Amino acid sequence: MSASLDPAFVAASFEKTFGETPDGVWAAPGRVNLIGEHTDYNEGFVLPFAIDRAAAVAIRRREGSTARLVSSFGDQGVVTVDLDGLSQDTMSGWTAYPLGVVWVLRQMGVEIGGFDLYLHSTVPSGAGLSSSAAIECAVATAFNELQGAGLSLNELVLVGQRAENEVVGAPTGILDQSASLLSTDGHAVFLDCRTQESKLVPLDLAAAGLLILVVDTKVTHAHATGGYAARRASCELGAEVLGVASLRDVDAAGLPEAAGLLDEETFRRVRHIVTENQRVLDTVAVLDDAGPAAIGGLLTASHASMRDDFEISCPELDLAVDTALAHGALGARMTGGGFGGSAIALIPVASQAAVGAAVLAAFADAGFTAPDIFAVSPAPGARKIS
Ligand code: ADP
Ligand code: MG
Repeated sequence: MSASLDPAFVAASFEKTFGETPDGVWAAPGRVNLIGEHTDYNEGFVLPFAIDRAAAVAIRRREGSTARLVSSFGDQGVVTVDLDGLSQDTMSGWTAYPLGVVWVLRQMGVEIGGFDLYLHSTVPSGAGLSSSAAIECAVATAFNELQGAGLSLNELVLVGQRAENEVVGAPTGILDQSASLLSTDGHAVFLDCRTQESKLVPLDLAAAGLLILVVDTKVTHAHATGGYAARRASCELGAEVLGVASLRDVDAAGLPEAAGLLDEETFRRVRHIVTENQRVLDTVAVLDDAGPAAIGGLLTASHASMRDDFEISCPELDLAVDTALAHGALGARMTGGGFGGSAIALIPVASQAAVGAAVLAAFADAGFTAPDIFAVSPAPGARKIS
């Protein structure tokens, strides 16, 4: 899969498939969460940035209520649906992402009739880089503009989240869609998940001679979904026992008391969320004061917390992190929901080849599937590209 996303290619693919030119092409990026894991549904803080890989949709509106959807991904043919017959439970497979967004927008009163849609994405699917939100945000941005719906970026975030929660059935927060919609080039998005307030934080990796290397372990553990739900349940239990609306309301000073009130495992889950929120705040402060070269220790501490307290890492992610650190990374951590997916390492540009080779060799030695390793840089959010 090439990382480049050529609007002309997407438009030409649409034309080849449907025999007409599209009304436009819209793109929305995947994201890397720099720090702040599992804090979103605890009304806490996250710091993602949009990456230079995106989902693009070419769309042409048609008469009637029929939608036809095609993705360049795999060989799945044309999916044809009657939009008037769309219901939450009948959408399945990859089209649940674009159709979920259309369904939510229609629920909100945006009048969307028939259309043809061609999807091409350079965000690897299931790697923890949010290929799903990229699709949702591209489609939401497209129809917001095509129908003149006038929804704000924050409203579009919630449209994507509702599609993911209510149609796809994934109980996710607003992190992914916020990153995909609110990012600007060269910045990360500091997001308060309680208030949905956000602030752009300069993240000029190139100027500091740094890059973020993504190691996609290709691991998709069967217990990822169950593990995610179990962690959410632990956090809810922790908040209930501690008598707070959410773990956002607990800070480091409250941990000793929490230790006396919670069972050992729930306490460690709570400690991860509490310390992770503080690490996000610290990362924002350090980026402001000293720049990206100084945040490595916070990234690595975040990984240790997820490995030991939240227990959502896996041997492949730990190996990627440890190997990167041993070969010159300033910091490294797993990113995304856990139990597989990707790790990120903050490295000097000059170390890219050495770190990549070391991680590949370590995976081969351990008998793990070869990972995909690639650099990402902060990129702009969702937009019309043609
Ligand atoms: P992530 O968002 O971390 O990549 P998810 O499981 O949330 O992982 O979303 C992956 C799903 O998104 C895939 O199973 C597929 O349904 C859909 N998807 C991702 N990329 C594409 C694509 N290029 N074409 C069609 N569907 C895609
Ligand atoms: Mg996803």
